[in-house]
Parts: sequence; C-alpha cells; structure tokens
Amino acid sequence: MNLHEYQGKEILASHGVRIQRGIVARNAKEAVDAAKQLTEETGTGWHVIKAQVHAGGRGKGGGVKLAKNLAEVEQIAEQIIGMNLITPQTSAQGKKVHQVLVAEDVYYPGDSETSEFYMSVLLNRASGRNMIMYSTEGGMDIEQVAEDTPHLIFTEEIDPTIGLLPFQARKVAFNLGLSGTAFKEMVKFVMSLYKAYVSSDSSLFEINPVLKTSDDKIMAVDAKVTLDDNALYRHKDYVEMRDVREENPIEVEAKEVGLNYVDLEGNVGCMVNGAGLAMATMDLIKMAGGEPANFLDVGGTADAKRVETAFRIILKDPDVKAILVNIFGGIVRCDRVAQGIVDAYKNMGDAINVPIIVRLQGTNAELAKELIDTSGLAVHSAVQFQEAADKVKEVLA
Ligand code: GDP
Ligand code: MN
Repeated sequence: MNLHEYQGKEILASHGVRIQRGIVARNAKEAVDAAKQLTEETGTGWHVIKAQVHAGGRGKGGGVKLAKNLAEVEQIAEQIIGMNLITPQTSAQGKKVHQVLVAEDVYYPGDSETSEFYMSVLLNRASGRNMIMYSTEGGMDIEQVAEDTPHLIFTEEIDPTIGLLPFQARKVAFNLGLSGTAFKEMVKFVMSLYKAYVSSDSSLFEINPVLKTSDDKIMAVDAKVTLDDNALYRHKDYVEMRDVREENPIEVEAKEVGLNYVDLEGNVGCMVNGAGLAMATMDLIKMAGGEPANFLDVGGTADAKRVETAFRIILKDPDVKAILVNIFGGIVRCDRVAQGIVDAYKNMGDAINVPIIVRLQGTNAELAKELIDTSGLAVHSAVQFQEAADKVKEVLA
C-alpha cells in the first residue's frame, strides 16, 4: 500500500525524524488557514504548496510551487487542487489532485550552504537484507544518477537480526561529506529513519531530497512510503491511510471480492489458481507471442460464481483480446471448474466478447475437456501446456 507524502512524513515524525512541517488542505481556504497556522508555529513567511498524489516527479509537472504570501498561497492552491497532474511517473492522463500539503519553506534563497541528498531504505531481495541507498546527488532524478554516474550511489546493507549499527550510520554521514553538527544530525536522521522503516513494516521509505540547511539541520523534505500489505493487520492506524482514489479501480474491486488481481499492460487475460502457476502461465503467454493483461489468482474455489466474477473483472480491461484459463485440479475437481466456466459463460451471454482458451489439468481433466468440447460454446480446450500456448497464438493471429 502506498502512502501520500504527508502520511509518510507523519510516520517519520512519530519516530523522531526531522521533517519539513506541513498541514494538509482540501481547498484554497483550508490552505490559507494552514499557512497562517504554520507561520505561527514555525515563523516561516514563505510556503510550498505540494500536490498530494501517489506519484513522484511532482515538481517537474507543476505540482510543487512556492508561495511568498497568503494571496499566492490561495491562488496556487486554487490552481493545483482539482488539476490533472501529469508527471514522468503518471500515465499520460495524469492524476487528479484532491489535496495539497502546505509546507514551511525550508530553502533559503541564494544560500549556497544548503545541500540536497537522496536516501532510501528498502529490502534487497537478492541478499534478504535491508539496505540503505544514498547519494550526494539528491533532489533530482535518482534514476538518471544511477544511469549516468552509478559510482555516486552508495549502499549500506543491514542484517535484519542485528539491526542498523551506529558505525554504519556514521559511515553514511561520512560518505555524504558531512562534518561537525551536520554529521551528528545525519547520524541521528539515519538511525531514526531506519527505525521508522522497520517498525512500520514498510518495504520502501524514499526520502528525496534529504535537506541539509545552512544551519546544519538535516530534514526530510519529501517522503515516498510503501507499506507491506501483509503486515497491515499489525497497524490498524495505518489501514485508514489508504486512499483508494489513487489505486487502480479494477484492482480495488478485485480485492473487495477476494481475488488476487494485478493489472498489467498486455492483451491476454489470465485466470489461474495458485500464484506459482499464474507466473508460469504468464511466461507461457509471452513465449506464445502475447503479453499478459493481468495476474489473477482465483484461489482454491473455482465455482461458477467465482469464475464469473473473475471473467467480469478481466473483461473490464479494454485491452484484453483473449482469455487463458489455466487451472490445476488438485483439491478442486476439473469437471467442477469446467461446469463453472460453462455456467458462467451462459450466464454472461454477450458480455464475453473474446475467445477463451481453457486448460484444465489434474483430477478428472479428461471429463472436464469433454464438458467444454460438448458445451457448444466458443471455448477452446487444451490439456497440455504447449497446446494452450499454441491456441493462444492461434486466436491472437
Ligand atoms: P517530487 O517532485 O514529487 O519529488 O516532490 P518534492 O517534494 O521532492 O519537491 C520537488 C522539489 O521542490 C524539491 O526537489 C525542491 O527543490 C523543491 N522544494 C521542496 N520544498 C521546498 C521548499 O521548502 N522551498 C523551496 N524553495 N523549494 C522546495
Ligand atoms: Mn522528491
């Protein structure tokens, strides 16, 4: 589950990480009130108005703007809230902005003593360890830095059973070229950031930029956070942070009916039981010259009702040109699944407007094939994996 910048910053602050302070606003009036309150609390005269959407690169898309007085706060908030923000990380349609973060201005104009760093904490799946990635080249495209000057990106691996050790945090501060107060502040920043990452069960905390002010404070100016969905049951207060408006509507619907669905770019819809088989099926589609339109694990109960729901979800994606059903009948019998498909098909009538290839393997597979073949419906059956691949190729041609 992804969070908004303001929510990520709340988690950071609750673990003692210094943040650029801000207040969220849903309209221009709230933005002005927020700015007034921030001036009272922090003494800031200038404010940054930041669009809150689940996408980075907001600055480049015109979603982060500096306001030098209350009239500008109002005018900029008016302009950003409701806009369709297009950034390098959104689709071409962009994302609608529902709220902004009104934040204190923490950059002092013309100040050469400020620096922007990049820092993230994430899981290195290859080593099974947590990792801090950091760079002196913060503020801009870290992807570009990684491509052009990879030697400017450092990594520090952390053994999860031991945790982050103080010498590692000092190494980070040293490699970022800091000394004196800024060095000490950075050590504290890194230690608390890692604590925030671990205690919130996150899979990513990306802070870009981490700012060093001219008076040697180190603070998070941005926060991109991904929480681990499988650990959400341990964080009831974070569940409420979910903003479904930011999520793929088909995925949200699938989740509501208990289907494990991930939307992808391709044209062949998949309905599979078991995540491993689903991945193998996606490989199969690719090898047959297609591109999977989704990942879908229907789980153990492939009855007519569930199969129908799955068909309806897959068909919401307008790119789907064919559907491959690949079910292994271990506990569930293949003939029951086949019956489910036939019933769902009959029930849906015209709603199914693409060819369907069904491969059922396992208990009563032959009986299932016969059921499909004699149903009189436009469903292609296959028993072997290769057969299914060939049929996909055939219907896409
Ligand atoms: P992103 O573009 O989505 O990554 O959004 P960020 O929160 O990183 O903001 C983009 C850029 O806005 C930053 O790299 C800063 O250069 C700038 N920015 C953020 N906060 C301030 C601020 O307080 N004052 C000024 N002048 N610029 C800021
Ligand atoms: Mn950023």
